[in-house]
Formats: sequence, C-alpha cells, structure tokens
Amino acid sequence: MRPTGFFLHPAAALHDPGWGHPDHQGRLRTLASTVGKDLLTLHGQVEQYEAPLASVEAILQVHSPDHITAVRQACERAGVGQAEVAPETFVTGASWEAVLGSSGALIEAVDKVAGGVLRNAFVASRPPGHHASRARGLGFCVVNHVAVAARHLIRTGRAERVAIVDWDVHHGNGTQEIFYTDPEVFYLSLHQSPLFPGTGATTEVGKGAGKGFTLNVPLPSGTGPERYLRAFRESLEEVAARFDPDFVLVSAGYDGLAEDPLGGFQLRPATYHAMTGMVRGWAEEACDGRLVAALEGGYDPSATGLAALSTLRALAGLARV
Ligand SMILES: [Zn+2]
Repeated sequence: MRPTGFFLHPAAALHDPGWGHPDHQGRLRTLASTVGKDLLTLHGQVEQYEAPLASVEAILQVHSPDHITAVRQACERAGVGQAEVAPETFVTGASWEAVLGSSGALIEAVDKVAGGVLRNAFVASRPPGHHASRARGLGFCVVNHVAVAARHLIRTGRAERVAIVDWDVHHGNGTQEIFYTDPEVFYLSLHQSPLFPGTGATTEVGKGAGKGFTLNVPLPSGTGPERYLRAFRESLEEVAARFDPDFVLVSAGYDGLAEDPLGGFQLRPATYHAMTGMVRGWAEEACDGRLVAALEGGYDPSATGLAALSTLRALAGLARV
C-alpha cells in the first residue's frame, strides 16, 4: 500500500504576525508536535516530506503580478517588524518564504499523489490561503495555496477536473472568485453564516461557463457534529452527481471545532475523521483516491492539532484519535 504524505515547509512556522494574532506561530508547532507524538501509530503508513519552494511563475497562474509584487515588497519592508497588507493580515520578513514554501508543499504533494508515489497527503500550510483572491489578500491570507495547486494540476495535464472541498468555518471567498467562471474546478464550501467574510450565499453558484460549478452550504452558529455531518454527506453526494473529478483538494480549516475562538460550530476532532473518510471514499470512487488536504484556519492550537491528526489518520486508513 502506498503511504500517505505529510508535508511541512519549515519556513511556514516562521511567518510571525505576533502572539496576539489568531494565526500565531504556535499553531504549526503544536500541530507538528501532535503528529510527531503519534509516530508509533503512523509509522509505516505516513511519510514526512520537506517541500521545495514554489516558483513565482506557479503563483502567477492564480494571482496578479501587482498583488504578488506588493506582497513581496511588504515582506522586504517588514524586515524583523510587520507590514499590514490587508485588514488584520500582516507579513514579516519570513513570510515570503513561508508563502512560497506552503504553495511549494502543495505542488509537491499533488505531484507525488498524481504520480502514484503517495496514495494521498496532508499539507501543514501557513499562512492560510482561501480568502486570497486574484488581486488581493484578506483574512490572514496572501496567496491561495489550494488554488495554486488546482491550477498547477490542470496546467501540467495531471488533471482535467479538480474538486475543492472547503470545510473551514469561513467561506473561501478567494477560491470561489478565482474559479467562479471556470467549469474545470468545482468549489464546494460549508461554512458558518453569518460570519466573516460575508460571502457564500446559496445563490452564488458560478457564472458563465462556470455556472453550476460552485456550491455553497451556509449553516448557523451552534451547528454540531450530527447536523454538520448530514449536510456534509448530502453536499458531497450533490457534487458527485454533477461533477466527475480526477483530483480532490480539501481546504482543511479547523476553526469549526467547538474550542475555536473565531468560529461558532461545535465540531470535535472525531468529526474531522468522519469528514475525511467521506471525502476519501468519494475520491476512491471518482479518481483512484487522489486527494490532498491542506491546512487553512483553526485557531485553538491543541484542538486543531488533534483534528489535523484525525484527518491524517483517516487519510492513512487508521482509526480516529
Ligand atoms: Zn477560517
């Protein structure tokens, strides 16, 4: 059996918007140590990889040159301090490498899965990406790593149709916007509503050739595991009836956990094990199991670490934590 990959670029942990910021450096350290402590279970099933940096060219397939130049210059300007590129969205001198490392990790992960080296993979990316649109950053995000990976898969002929499942508690407005008119990429989002960034109504379904290739499922604050899993299963079934992907990407945010300071859902680490199992089952039916999940939000580090480990275990076919 081919192993599951666990990808982490060390620079992703160095992006430093400050300890008072929800996306502080402790998130990735706690996640990595939670996964590391589970070595006895994961051994032989999960292999860890350090990824190369993404090329700027790969990122420019998704983002405008002006936006990428502005992000790079803000990182240079910040030095050991911080520069604000959007409200509550800060970069530091280390952030440019964190961004390229995270996109690079996703590209390496999808290449290894598409090439049959790995059965599937989890990428511990940071800063998150799904609020970043073509020309601007938002909500802690400056580059949309999952969108970069989807474009890379299609541009290089490794896939023709990519499904993105976004289970972060927030709507991924950036991912939706990037692929809104694109029938090659299906975007599914389940998210809390009302909540930042305010997009993701059921009426947002795509436009032009992309009409019918976006599905939004808003859910109220307080949604617990049972209701969420029902909605999740039904949504996946609806997408599967309309779209036949040859690769599945997951924007895996963990801010739907009950402990999360920003989200109002009541999900447990075990809920993410069940969700991963459902997506994995669909990917196995549709595209020989080709599936890569990448970290987005999740701002209670301990709970996020356990839920990410639950995802990793489910990807590897192991029991929940
Ligand atoms: Zn989020």
